[in-house]
Amino acid sequence: MRLVDAFQSSTSVVAVMRASDGVFLGVNPAFERSTGYRRDQVTGRLPVEIGLWPDPAFRSQIWSLLRGDHRAVALPMHLRHADGRILPGHLNVEFATDADGETVVFCLLHLATEPAAPGETAPSAPPGFYRALYLAASEGIYRSLPGGGFLDVNPAMARILGYDSPAQLLQEVAREASSLYVDPESATHFHTRLQAGERLERVRARVRRRDGGIIWVSENARGIFDEQGKVLFYEGSLVDITAQVEAEEALRQSRTLYQVLVENSRDGVFLIQRGKVAFANQALASILGYEVPELTGMDYMSLVDPADIEAQMARRAAREAGSPAPQVYEVRLRRRDGRVILCEVRADAVQYEGDIASTGTLRDVTEERARQRAIEDAERRYRTLVEHSQVGVFIMDGDRYTYANTAFTQMLGLGEGELVGRGYREIMAPEAVPASEQRDRDRAAGRPVPSDFETCLLHRDGRRVFVRVSIGPVELDGVEHLTGTVLDVTRQREAESRLRFHATHDPLTGLPNRMLFNQKLAGAMLAAGRAGGQPYAVLFLDLDGFKWVNDSLGHGAGDGLLVQIARRLEDSLLQDVLIARYGGDEFTLLPEGPCDEARAAAIARQVIALFEQPFDAGGQQVFSSASLGIVLGRPDYESPEQVLRDADTAMYRAKSAGKSGFVVFDEGMHQQALSRLQLETDLRLAFERAEFRVHYQPIIELASGRLVGAEALVRWLHPRRGLLAPAEFLPLAEESGLITQLDAWVLGEACAQLGQWRQVAPGLSMNVNVDERQMVAPGLVDEVLALLHRHQLPADSLRLEVTETAFRSGRGEAERHLLSLKAIGVGLVVDDFGTGYSSLESFASSPFDALKMDQVFIRDIETNPRHRAIVRTINGFAGELGLALTAEGIETEGQREMLRAIGCQFGQGFLFSRALPPEQFEQMLSAGAGIVG
Ligand code: C2E
Ligand code: MG
Ligand code: MG
Repeated sequence: MRLVDAFQSSTSVVAVMRASDGVFLGVNPAFERSTGYRRDQVTGRLPVEIGLWPDPAFRSQIWSLLRGDHRAVALPMHLRHADGRILPGHLNVEFATDADGETVVFCLLHLATEPAAPGETAPSAPPGFYRALYLAASEGIYRSLPGGGFLDVNPAMARILGYDSPAQLLQEVAREASSLYVDPESATHFHTRLQAGERLERVRARVRRRDGGIIWVSENARGIFDEQGKVLFYEGSLVDITAQVEAEEALRQSRTLYQVLVENSRDGVFLIQRGKVAFANQALASILGYEVPELTGMDYMSLVDPADIEAQMARRAAREAGSPAPQVYEVRLRRRDGRVILCEVRADAVQYEGDIASTGTLRDVTEERARQRAIEDAERRYRTLVEHSQVGVFIMDGDRYTYANTAFTQMLGLGEGELVGRGYREIMAPEAVPASEQRDRDRAAGRPVPSDFETCLLHRDGRRVFVRVSIGPVELDGVEHLTGTVLDVTRQREAESRLRFHATHDPLTGLPNRMLFNQKLAGAMLAAGRAGGQPYAVLFLDLDGFKWVNDSLGHGAGDGLLVQIARRLEDSLLQDVLIARYGGDEFTLLPEGPCDEARAAAIARQVIALFEQPFDAGGQQVFSSASLGIVLGRPDYESPEQVLRDADTAMYRAKSAGKSGFVVFDEGMHQQALSRLQLETDLRLAFERAEFRVHYQPIIELASGRLVGAEALVRWLHPRRGLLAPAEFLPLAEESGLITQLDAWVLGEACAQLGQWRQVAPGLSMNVNVDERQMVAPGLVDEVLALLHRHQLPADSLRLEVTETAFRSGRGEAERHLLSLKAIGVGLVVDDFGTGYSSLESFASSPFDALKMDQVFIRDIETNPRHRAIVRTINGFAGELGLALTAEGIETEGQREMLRAIGCQFGQGFLFSRALPPEQFEQMLSAGAGIVG
């Protein structure tokens, strides 16, 4: 069945034509009614054979439709009725396939009910439902007369052209409708075409609106012709396409812009479609070493370095799966010359010709990445260096740390990153802050600032960290920062201050030493010398009997005692007195501030009181005491040594005045000190000048009155002061050490004398005093042997007198010498026996063979029964041990009688004779007075 058969009963006017040649295949009854043609008049014929379409333009339109792209359309048309009337209407055309497979054109005709009468010159407005359409249409619809004004226009037409109403438009554009066109040529051109029967479709023109504004319109128009082919009128429609034209223009412009951009881009621009390069710009070709045409059509994967193909496949898969975000990645591509380059790609998925294609840009970053890597490597190396450095490293912005390495944070006991954001004042010792702030001000004012300085920081636990800082400006991100290194020099500083301390302090007690004391004293002296200077004083303290503690309890106990004394002094005096250990058991005190005699004396009393409580020495409670000498500053002192020398003198005076007291140095002592100094000088010269003499005091056997020996006693024939007794110069000789030299000389003299005298008195013996220092002198034994030999003396004719202290301290060297001398056969005598504190036991075990009782027991032996008892006891003791006993200082007959009665064997004293010069002794000897030969 033909399609048309389906429309037999329809009121719609339907005709079906063969698409291949336009022949009518059939029409329905509505067609017959409306056109006046019978079915059999139409079927199998072409429309032109019937003359159905009077408008040649419409005819050609239909033709082109048939031959063309078979699109469905709706066309305005005029149809010639079988009775010759021209009927306006619309034609809808639809292509379809008929039952037998033939392509057919299905035509639906809409015809005006009142066909226009031929020759009508002023057609009325379209009637019926078309009118409503006409009035409501959004496109402008018009009819105009060739060479005249509009016949009619719809409201849209008026609106598009800027008129209030169709009436206004008709009135104002009464004469010439074509005057609306901006380009008159296009108006004439349109007329020519229309008159030739051409139908204008979507022609573009610029028209002028009522307000003068120009708009773009798209216009359809055709001429309506009469039988003779003369134009009756034009009818047309137009729409405002200004917006569209402008958009098109913008698009065109942006197309050009993009094209320019892409062509001139230094980045490669690509479009990859189905894995092939669909587009490449010049830059891309250059990057890859190809020409653009060569590259176009290439398989993209063939450009990818094999190592990156897998990753690239994954990216493509993600893109095709619709991954939304643009991809930015790096890929290694192989250039035409084989070189592999690293490229940064930004790719986007786009719809292109029905495919999901990839487009984007590409940049060769081989060198850039290499450079970056080099910088990163260097950066990493430096970072490692800095991070692991033992030296603190920091960066500051203003006064705040923006970076600090581990060494620096650890220096302060802080955790990683704890320093960042903090200001330097927070970690600096308060006393160091002002100097830092000064540096800040100097830096800000452009004054020179030291790049190296030392400062002091605070550790988290509060202790001070001394550091050496090197600092300098550095520009980071365009901002000036400070960067620097920090070296912990705390240990150095501590070592230095320890060294300084050791140089100026006594290691045992920790007190300032002699050097520091002298420095401070020099300062006080200098200050006192200035105008308005203050009086000052020095106290010199020497322990009484310290030697005894050292000797009997050992050095450890002695040291312990010194430390305790130092602490006691510090505890009570440190506030305002400089206390120093001057040496051995000597302490010196320098009161701070003005010090007159009263204050110095008060301090001395305070010190003496400190010794009232016992000390602990080696677990034993011991009492100690001190003697003090005070010196008040005087303008004529030139050095601290002079002041201390006098303080020492005053101290000795205190000692000899009975110990545990103090003496203030005065003018008398000053004079004595001076003469003592003079004496010392003289003493040294005395040897050269041979001013020493030896006098001999006879030793008598009490029972018989016989002269049995002599004691050699030294004298000094002083050039100004005459003959001096040992008491006047021996202490000085002992102190200066000249005593050994002196004793050696006396020993030589005495031996020589004995050798001579023994020729007259063969039984004579000689006693020689030996100082404790002489007793330990190296070579003593050899010297004695040599003397005995030289003067042909039997060893037992020489007797050496030693005081108790000499052999008590001589448990070592002296003991050995004593034993050697004893072995030789030399006599050993304990001098001044009874005045020392030695235990009797020590005599029993010592190599002595004689005792000499001290004068103190003899002097009042007649009146003092105690001393008499002691003498008797000593006599018994000596007898029991087989020691010879001599009594010294016998001045009276009574004394002699009493000693003889007690049984003392030998005696010596003024009763018999004073010590005599050798000539006199010799006379006495040769006179044979009382000598039993
Ligand atoms: P010393 O060894 O006990 O000597 C005895 C002292 O008593 C002598 O004093 C002597 O002159 C004095 N004297 C003797 N008989 C009497 C007397 O009846 N009444 C009084 N009041 N005194 C008497 P000198 O010579 O002044 O010697 C004093 C001390 O000097 C000696 O005491 C001795 O310890 C020491 N001394 C003397 N010469 C030497 C010497 O060459 N070497 C050493 N190391 N010491 C010496
Ligand atoms: Mg003697
Ligand atoms: Mg004596």
